[in-house]
Amino acid sequence: MKLRKVTAASAVLLALSVTATACGGDKKDDAGSSGGGNKITIGIKFDQPGIGQKTPQGYSGFDVDVATYVAKKLGYNADQIEWKESKSADRETMLKRGDVDFIAASYSITPERQKLVDFAGPYLLAHQDVLVRADDSSIKSPADLNNKKLCSVTGSTSAQNVKEKLAPKAQLQQYPTYSACLTGLQNKVIDALTTDDSILAGYASQSQFKGKFKLGGLKMTNENYGIGVKKGSDLKGKINKALEAMVSDGSWDAAVKKNFGPAGYKNEPAPKIGDIKS
Ligand code: GLU
Repeated sequence: MKLRKVTAASAVLLALSVTATACGGDKKDDAGSSGGGNKITIGIKFDQPGIGQKTPQGYSGFDVDVATYVAKKLGYNADQIEWKESKSADRETMLKRGDVDFIAASYSITPERQKLVDFAGPYLLAHQDVLVRADDSSIKSPADLNNKKLCSVTGSTSAQNVKEKLAPKAQLQQYPTYSACLTGLQNKVIDALTTDDSILAGYASQSQFKGKFKLGGLKMTNENYGIGVKKGSDLKGKINKALEAMVSDGSWDAAVKKNFGPAGYKNEPAPKIGDIKS
């Protein structure tokens, strides 16, 4: 009799747990096919002020605002977004593995990357530049970078461009993040940090670095920022529609002012979807 009671209770428990699972207890949302699930997971940078930054107050930056707008159009409110750090070298793998639904992380559209992932956009045109100490006037052209101790990030177009075309003789050091390069620049372990002007402007304007660094203004490349999605995902078309709406309703301009204004970054006008500048 006692045994029977236990068995009945277990059956109820088992039934309950099966129901819970079926109701989505551990369901992985698929923003790609349906939208409107419990949450959406978005990859951003965590250490790039003005672009993508995690602070004790939360997440901020242009990429965060673009991603939040896009998520809303896909049916997700801000409180349904789970932010994940996507370091430069990890982005394609994170998309392929399905760790994130999309990535908005100063992510340049390139032919090599397009073989591995798809891109919506572009939504911003930036240019590769250098950040040097304020008293350094020795870098006036890309060629001046040859033989300099230059820092950039593994898996970035910035490092790739230096090695392949801009300054193949530079002593290039590759760190996992740009913020790691900043300490080296301050301590004179490196001579210059190279990446997109949009990112460098954010660093230069930080109160702790005020007056210490300056941008070279070299405009060495075109960096077309896109939103990365898994290859073949139907999110690409939906995100493109959202980006178009963001420009036409004025939200893109507002996000530019809010995030780049404090750094004094002079951005290019909003790019047209599919217009990738080489
Ligand atoms: N936009 C460049 C890239 O996608 C440099 C910035 C970054 O590493 O995120 O590689």
